[in-house]
Amino acid sequence: MISLTGVIFWLVQASSLLVFTVPFRWSYVALWAASHFLRGMGLTLAYHRYYAHRAFQMNRAARLFWTVAGVAAMQKGPLWWAGHHVYHHKYADRDGDPHSPRVSGFYYAHLGWFLNDSRHHKVDPTNPVLRAFGAVPELAWLDRFNVVPPIALAAGMYLYGGFPWLVWGFCVPTTTLAHATFAINTVNHMFGTRRFKTADDSTNNALTALFAVGEGWHNNHHRYQRAARNGFYWWEFDPTYYMIRLMEKVGLAWDVQRVPERIYREAEVGAAALPEASSAATTSPNSAPLAS
Ligand SMILES: [Zn+2]
Ligand SMILES: [Zn+2]
Repeated sequence: MISLTGVIFWLVQASSLLVFTVPFRWSYVALWAASHFLRGMGLTLAYHRYYAHRAFQMNRAARLFWTVAGVAAMQKGPLWWAGHHVYHHKYADRDGDPHSPRVSGFYYAHLGWFLNDSRHHKVDPTNPVLRAFGAVPELAWLDRFNVVPPIALAAGMYLYGGFPWLVWGFCVPTTTLAHATFAINTVNHMFGTRRFKTADDSTNNALTALFAVGEGWHNNHHRYQRAARNGFYWWEFDPTYYMIRLMEKVGLAWDVQRVPERIYREAEVGAAALPEASSAATTSPNSAPLAS
């Protein structure tokens, strides 16, 4: 039987087809981009790099802002999301990984696991994310009432700009962001390049990095998950890291975890060991990494 999460999820996905009933305007595309990328950054910056990996510390107000942005993406609560992500790294592409194409096939890894309320409804109370953040009142509330921010966003869009804003500012970007996020679990465990020979199937992929605000450098991330950056070099587009650096510069973030030199040295050896990578001499990791 389809779960309540499934009913809501598929209704929102289907609602994005309403885009064909609205006259096209470039300003609507800008609205889509703002809604997709801002909420995407809520997921990558707060849900992923902060709650799951504690790659940096941030001020409580900034944390609330990015967490609300993430919750508005309609991908359940921050503690649920990050708690499951911890299991993903712990069991990457082995039994126990909630979303591995190798273990459970593409569909289940992309959507099935997210919609399977009976199996993945809760994280264990011993989960490190729950232990660290479960008692913070605003976070516990947002995790429990995670339907509130998306409903508020949808209502706000409709009240401000009418039906076209609801469709371009909520329905379409919620759909594209869901697939951009889930593609990290599927595409980034199937297609792309592998700088590091990790035990899992993780890959780097510039296309998923673009739509998932920097998360597509997933092989880098599986090699050194504590770092605040997933793009390890300046040419690996990682806007989430640029935002963390900006927050650090203005005092909103601190303890930003860098990629250790030994990992960069390992990257050089790994790149040299792969024959097809030798032609990419201009992108040799000999170049200094972006500000450390
Ligand atoms: Zn992964
Ligand atoms: Zn991760």
